Amino acid sequence: MKTFCPQCGSDNEAQPGQRVTCAACTAVYTAPATLAGPQPAVTAPPPVPVYPPAPLPNPLSAPSAGPLIGAPDASLAPWNPLAIAALVTGILGCGPVSIILGFLAIQQLDAAHQAQRGKNLAIAGIVLGFLGLCCGVGSLALALLGAASTAGA
Ligand SMILES: [Zn+2]
Repeated sequence: MKTFCPQCGSDNEAQPGQRVTCAACTAVYTAPATLAGPQPAVTAPPPVPVYPPAPLPNPLSAPSAGPLIGAPDASLAPWNPLAIAALVTGILGCGPVSIILGFLAIQQLDAAHQAQRGKNLAIAGIVLGFLGLCCGVGSLALALLGAASTAGA
């Protein structure tokens, strides 16, 4: 039978259980009693795909959305570009712009029913827009206060 040297990996012919001197590196080792064939690769179970939670219908602005069961797969619907624009401008801090874009996107999404998605994006854009607006007003007020105190001193 063929045995494999544990030191250098070269194969040497030997009887099972016999002490073998490696022809390549002269390491002495004991041949296994039975030929250990190549172990089958342990196949890991395929990873369970993690699906994002389905977006919930907004109960405030969906008077007659109808049952979602039987509706076309919402995850295949194209994103509403205005909703994306609202989110992006909201992140960039363009407060009023993202608020307007967000409301326009929600109007389009309501008109499109399940044909488009991105309502959550639009809402996020509106929220970010309001936050940006507040921050902008706040920093403007701070700047005015700072200017006033500097002028007064
Ligand atoms: Zn060897």
